[in-house]
Amino acid sequence: MQLLMDLDDTLVNHSKAQRVASARFGELFRREIPGYSQESFERVWNRIMMKYYQKFLDRELSFEEQQHSRMRELFDNPGMSPETAGELFARYLDLYEASWETYEDVVPFLTWCVSHNHPVSVLTDGSQKQQNRKLELTGLAPYFTYVFTAEEEKRTKPDPLFFTGVCEKLSAKPSDTIYIGDNREKDALGASQAGLTGIWLDRENRDSPFEGLRVTSLIRAISFLEEPAQRGEDYSVSK
Ligand SMILES: [Mg+2]
Repeated sequence: MQLLMDLDDTLVNHSKAQRVASARFGELFRREIPGYSQESFERVWNRIMMKYYQKFLDRELSFEEQQHSRMRELFDNPGMSPETAGELFARYLDLYEASWETYEDVVPFLTWCVSHNHPVSVLTDGSQKQQNRKLELTGLAPYFTYVFTAEEEKRTKPDPLFFTGVCEKLSAKPSDTIYIGDNREKDALGASQAGLTGIWLDRENRDSPFEGLRVTSLIRAISFLEEPAQRGEDYSVSK
């Protein structure tokens, strides 16, 4: 059985790191950011981030260009040079990287996979350099055979060709491949629609209606890998 995994909010707590880092960044530059307030900063940061990150995913901007655009809009300075924007974003990146943490079930899960001869690779939206760095700095890199990113594959989730293209590179049949991720639509449903077995990692146990496989921790996914036919009470299975 070939295993593919999402990275952000599946292996590494990206949302928390982003929240902590952006709040610190806002504090640092509170005098330079027009209209800064501690209460609204997270909302402003996220709005700008989502706007330009989507342009990266749509391949309208490079990974660096979306970083620069975010700084220009945040500081309300459309003429900001790439150098200045890059330096400002680097300050944020330092704070973001210092906040990277893995979830506590990640290493036990990956250790189990390796010891049971289940090869694991990463399939993630995002940039090759940053996602590799994330795995290096958190100590997870040695567990993975390959890291496939949207940037290198020129596809983003939930494009079925992203999933099937990666299976082809791994010489794995989609039907023999499991994909685990925290995003119900992009990860679990996206992978399932491409013919893989998509598993939704619902760490918050939101218990919302879902016509597919759902686990509340990676440890729960082990029992599925061990015995696909025996699905415990943690799984909601489509009928
Ligand atoms: Mg994710």
